[in-house]
Amino acid sequence: MEQSIESYIKNLVRETIGHTLGELQIQSDRRVYVIANWKMNKNLADTAEFFQTIKSSDDVSVVVCPPAQLLYPAHLFISQQGKSIGLGAQNVHWAEKGAYTGESSASMLKDVGCEYCLIGHSERRQYSFEDDLLVNKKVQQAIKSGLIPIICIGETLEEKNLLQTEQVLFKQLFGALKDIDSSNFILAYEPVWAIGTGQSATAELAQQTHAYIRSVLKQIMGEKADGISILYGGSANESNAADYSAMPDIDGVLVGGASLNAQSFDGIINVFAKGEQNS
Ligand code: PEP
Repeated sequence: MEQSIESYIKNLVRETIGHTLGELQIQSDRRVYVIANWKMNKNLADTAEFFQTIKSSDDVSVVVCPPAQLLYPAHLFISQQGKSIGLGAQNVHWAEKGAYTGESSASMLKDVGCEYCLIGHSERRQYSFEDDLLVNKKVQQAIKSGLIPIICIGETLEEKNLLQTEQVLFKQLFGALKDIDSSNFILAYEPVWAIGTGQSATAELAQQTHAYIRSVLKQIMGEKADGISILYGGSANESNAADYSAMPDIDGVLVGGASLNAQSFDGIINVFAKGEQNS
């Protein structure tokens, strides 16, 4: 049977560059993440129970960030259960090693099974006075050591009310990504006013802000910005997850409170997995 012009061109493209343009589109799709931030919660027994209960997913990347003391046990529990769940730290030091009492280096975190690391969470910006310069040094060290940074940005309520959201995000993005060539990082937009308050951003507002973040990323890194996953964080839960998952620029969620309960966290994973299956 004679080939249509369309299939002739598709075959030609496939033979020349290894895939069709449609397939190329699929390959450049962003990864969807559902990430748990346990903050300073849980003990060893809770951790074992959580990883027994939680299900992994083939459709979304699930990552759990326990407190530093629980990282290695969590790594063992995940391996024992044979589940496809990534491990992340909640913080990393900017230096390779040295006299920094109480800190953890990127190589130590990798050594205990971490692949990811939160950097610049607003609680650290607030309580440990982390600024954009420090965030940038941490991002540099994480990337150099092979950890994937999950860079958190977001405006306070006061900044939101003063209509400074875009200004704040612009400064945080340029600060965090100064001299970074790699595109091996994840961004989490976490409006400070939505964290732990139950006052989540509407999906429409989050989408609008994510689109702005991607436009700034384009100024920083050009077309590679389209491949960066931007997650929403701030009182995300099983009930509002579907609204976020329907938005084109929201590539998953970073979850605090609702990630402490394995069933609730599973519920959020399922919502995003369904979204991926339908896309
Ligand atoms: C967070 O701290 O990263 C977070 C999103 O918390 P919560 O989901 O509890 O608002």
